[in-house]
Amino acid sequence: MSHNPYEVLGVDRGDDQATIKGAYRKLALQYHPDRNPGDRAAEEKFKEITQAYEILSDPEKRRRFDMTGSADAMPDMADFFGGFGMDDALRAFQDIFGFGRSGTTASAGEDAVVDIELDLREVVLGSTREISVTRNEHCSGCDGTGAHPDHGLSRCERCGGQGRIRTVRRTLLGAMQSVTACPDCGGRGSVPVKVCPECGGTRLESRDRKISVDLPAGVSEGHFIRLRGQGHFPPDDGPPGDMILRIRNVDYGDFQRDGYDLLYRTRISFPQAALGTRITIPPVEDEATEVDLPSGIQPGERLVLKRKGIRKLKGFGRGDLVVIADVYVPEKLSRKEKSVLQELDGSDHFKPSS
Ligand SMILES: [Zn+2]
Ligand SMILES: [Zn+2]
Repeated sequence: MSHNPYEVLGVDRGDDQATIKGAYRKLALQYHPDRNPGDRAAEEKFKEITQAYEILSDPEKRRRFDMTGSADAMPDMADFFGGFGMDDALRAFQDIFGFGRSGTTASAGEDAVVDIELDLREVVLGSTREISVTRNEHCSGCDGTGAHPDHGLSRCERCGGQGRIRTVRRTLLGAMQSVTACPDCGGRGSVPVKVCPECGGTRLESRDRKISVDLPAGVSEGHFIRLRGQGHFPPDDGPPGDMILRIRNVDYGDFQRDGYDLLYRTRISFPQAALGTRITIPPVEDEATEVDLPSGIQPGERLVLKRKGIRKLKGFGRGDLVVIADVYVPEKLSRKEKSVLQELDGSDHFKPSS
């Protein structure tokens, strides 16, 4: 038995969950013991692919396999390989595709996660963006039926087209009957006469899409924006998952953010602080702003420009733009400068007021 779950499922290390699940589904339906009665080799294969999927569908186990390159190096996984029986495999298979539940519960598709970076203007005002996403959609070769277009679908023999079968399970309470989705047809009541050559019967294909998204003002790093139904289509009949935009980084340029306020630090000279000066603040929206700093402004003093900051995410209003004046004290002086300052130091106006 190969102990490399990627090889077992025939997937690549970089493949996402939806792709891996699709690969597993295809193999699982091929080797499912109900389809291969009495075939020991198919049974072993079914157990092996289910084990492989259990590792790759668990982010923690997958990460550890990627690091060590071997399931044997991981004690709990070695156990897993040893003590994994047919019942375990069947139960896992049912859990994965939701067959264990009553009736035909189709599960939703996986979420598609996209990382984005924003700039100052987008955060201040909000924006509309084209977001590129690669997601699984219904195969265009078969319209998502999984069947070869020239051969179509036929009624599932196992469930007689009902999509459900009754099974009897032995439990502590005795034999119990339950209704589950038919494993041959996945609850659809029909099976492909011949599988679609495009998707190999997985019913899905990977497509690159551009989606126009309105990004609200006021978001920041670490925020998630969820777009319902824009994620991966599932291999069964469930609804698509969501698209999740994860804001990884915001470039605030020359500003710092404090809640919905923007802070702008400027350095002015000591005479400018005393005399007053005009500074230029780089554009927050479209144009730079000129601001007069009053004479006598103190180091670290804040000048607040009301409602010129970031638009609030929920509700109305806007934060402020806060200018903070840092005053530069000269580190070197010429003889002449020194004598001027010494003269000024005698003046009452140059004594710190309390
Ligand atoms: Zn069926
Ligand atoms: Zn197809």
